[in-house]
Amino acid sequence: AKAAAVAEWNGTGATADGRKVKVLGNVGSPADAEAAARAGAEGVGLFRTEFCYLDAPAEPPVQRQREAYTAVLTPFHGKPVIVRTLDAGADKPLAFLSQEDEPNPALGVRGLRIAFDLPEVLDRQLEAIAAAAADSGAEVSVMAPMVATATEAAWFVERARAAGIARAGVMIEVPAAALSAREILEVSDFVSIGTNDLAQYTFAADRQLGAVAPLNDPWQPGLLRLLAMVGEAARATGKPAGVCGEAAADPLLARVLAGFGLTSLSMNAAAVRAVGASLAGVTFDECAAAAGAAVAAPDVSSARAAASAAVSG
Ligand code: PEP
Ligand code: MG
Repeated sequence: AKAAAVAEWNGTGATADGRKVKVLGNVGSPADAEAAARAGAEGVGLFRTEFCYLDAPAEPPVQRQREAYTAVLTPFHGKPVIVRTLDAGADKPLAFLSQEDEPNPALGVRGLRIAFDLPEVLDRQLEAIAAAAADSGAEVSVMAPMVATATEAAWFVERARAAGIARAGVMIEVPAAALSAREILEVSDFVSIGTNDLAQYTFAADRQLGAVAPLNDPWQPGLLRLLAMVGEAARATGKPAGVCGEAAADPLLARVLAGFGLTSLSMNAAAVRAVGASLAGVTFDECAAAAGAAVAAPDVSSARAAASAAVSG
């Protein structure tokens, strides 16, 4: 019976017994947004705004940013969209931000850290996002990348509020942030876990390096334990915590993430229907059993096997 249920998805992200888990799209361009909307995404859990800056010889003027963001937001009129502020540095250097040579760019001044030195660049982006939210009619939230502490989160949330943006949260993609998820949720409206960077920093394994790819497997129990902690913090504070890294696109892992108490999953358009159907095929208690089994497993393959056994037994 379960296998039959898995084939169908009614377009509302929820377990079979009605526990809401929003199924959202990751987008980085107007074409991505169209694809996510067509795939049935209930909104956008991660809008990567880098596309607007990467080839620019200078910081794009607010009006140009506003138009670029509006083009991405428009397919999601009336729906929730989380716009991530500029995540530059490391592998994404920007021509107009002259950065020091960094011996370890992944550990350097990247993401929100750039904004501590250049808050006016962040403020102009927030201004453009607020205007694009009004132009498009999307329900826009903003989110900062590469946050490590609750103090940094509070700094960002305050600037977002000053720009007139009602909802502001941060990414959990640094292990210290996962360990401080509760304190971070206390000063922000939501968090979203970036499992790509969280795995990289947890396992000290470059996400772009094939030789260490097995360490960056999202089924690694060491990573799952951090995700469980963030789910626990969400429950304790009553605030939403989602996942927007690649982990959310795996239909079986999606059940585990729901079982941790994570409340939204954001993924590439191609995975939306399979993840929506996977959640619809199980109860929340089955998800919680899968989560408990996976997190207690000693390695990747037993975590996957234990999660699978917990929902098919
Ligand atoms: C992540 O790190 O998991 C994430 C979603 O952000 P990006 O892949 O853009 O670094
Ligand atoms: Mg990241």
